[in-house]
Amino acid sequence: MNDNLAELPLYWQAQYQSTLITKITEIKGNNISFKQTIFYPGGGGQPCDEGLLEFRKGESSEEFKIISTYKEDGKIWHKLDHEGIYLSPGQQVLLKLNWEKRYSLMRAHTAQHLFSHFIKKKLDCETLKANFEPFVIDIEVNKDLSVEDVLEVLSDVNLTISENSKVNSIIVSQEEYQKKYRHKIRGKDSKETIVRLIEIEKINDLVCCGGIHIDNLLEIQGIVLQEIKHNKIKLLIGEHGLFYANKQRDFIIQLEKITTKKDDKLINVIKNRFEDYIRVNDALVETLSLIFKNIKQDTEMVKELNYVSLQLPNLNRETIINSIKTVPPSVFITLLGHNNILYLISTSDVSSADVVKKLQETNSYKGGGNQKFAQIKLEETEKIEEVEKKIKQIIDNMQSN
Ligand SMILES: [Zn+2]
Repeated sequence: MNDNLAELPLYWQAQYQSTLITKITEIKGNNISFKQTIFYPGGGGQPCDEGLLEFRKGESSEEFKIISTYKEDGKIWHKLDHEGIYLSPGQQVLLKLNWEKRYSLMRAHTAQHLFSHFIKKKLDCETLKANFEPFVIDIEVNKDLSVEDVLEVLSDVNLTISENSKVNSIIVSQEEYQKKYRHKIRGKDSKETIVRLIEIEKINDLVCCGGIHIDNLLEIQGIVLQEIKHNKIKLLIGEHGLFYANKQRDFIIQLEKITTKKDDKLINVIKNRFEDYIRVNDALVETLSLIFKNIKQDTEMVKELNYVSLQLPNLNRETIINSIKTVPPSVFITLLGHNNILYLISTSDVSSADVVKKLQETNSYKGGGNQKFAQIKLEETEKIEEVEKKIKQIIDNMQSN
C-alpha cells in the first residue's frame, strides 16, 4: 500500500493542507498539471477547488488565479484565468487554495454523510443525490418526507455533532475492501483498484467516497433545515444556519409587537413553528396570513386608515402576495421585504399603485402595481423612516381630496 500512496491525490491524505510547493509537469494553453496537487477536481456533487498559483519572476513573485480544477486523461488540470505565458514545465510554483470555500464545502459534505446516515437509519430513506455550495446542502431522497420527520432526524444529527466524533479516511486495496469492509458500507459499492472509505467513528457509518471531509464532526457546528419540497431538502451549515435562525427569531419579536395580545394562543402557535428554525414556504405563507389577520386595528391611524409598517427582510414577493387575502378592511400596510423592496398593501379606497406614483414624483423609484398591491425598490442608502413619512403624507392628502 505504501508504494501506491505517493500516487494518490494529496486531497485524500492531507485534506487540511492549503498550500503546496510543487513543479509544473504539463501546460496546455490555460490548463496546467503539476507533480502533485492539493486541489480537488470536483465530483460527487462537490464543486472543484479554486485558488492561486504563485511563481517567481526575476526578483518578484507573481500570481495567477486558478478558476477551476478538473480531471482529464487520468490527470488533474488547473485552469488559469488567462494563459500562463511566463510558465514552463519543470518550474517550481506555490499553490494556494481558496481555503474559505474549500473548508465550508468539507464541512457541508461531511454533514451530508451524517444526515444521510440518520435518514437511512430512522426513516429507511436513501439519499439519491446531493449538491453543495459553501454552507448549503441540497439533498434528494427516494421518498417524500414531512417537516416533522426531518426535524426529528436533525435533532439526532445535531446531538451527534456535539459528541466529538472523529471522521476517518481509510484507503485500501480492492482486495482488502472486499474482505474487511464491503459488508459494512452504506450506499454505493466501489469497483476501484484503490478504495477510499470515510468512517464516522461514533455512529459506525462507512461510505465509499473520494470527496473532501473534515476530521471531526464538531467542526460542522450544527445543521439547520431551510426548506423541504417533497423529496428535496435544503440544509444550512454552521454559522450560516445560525445567522438564518437568528433572522427567524427577529421575525418572532416583530410578530409579537404587531399582533393583538389577547390572542396568546396564536403567538404560541407561531412561536413554536419558528422555534424549530424552519422555513417551509407553505408554513411561511400560513404564518404571514395569520399575522395579517390579527393586525392591531388602532396602532397608528392616518385619518381613517389603520397604518401598519413591518420590516421582514426574509420575505419575498410570492410569500406576501399569497398571504394578503387575510388583511382586514381599511388597512394600509408597508412591508420592507427581501432585497430592500418595499411592498404596499391596501384594503382601503387608497390605491397602492397611486401611492407609488406619487412617491415616484419625489424620487426615481422603480416599481408599480395595482389598487391592492404595489412595490418599489428602495436605494441602499435610504432610510425607511423617511420613506414612511412621505407615504403617510401622501395617504393623508389622498384622503382629503
Ligand atoms: Zn464523502
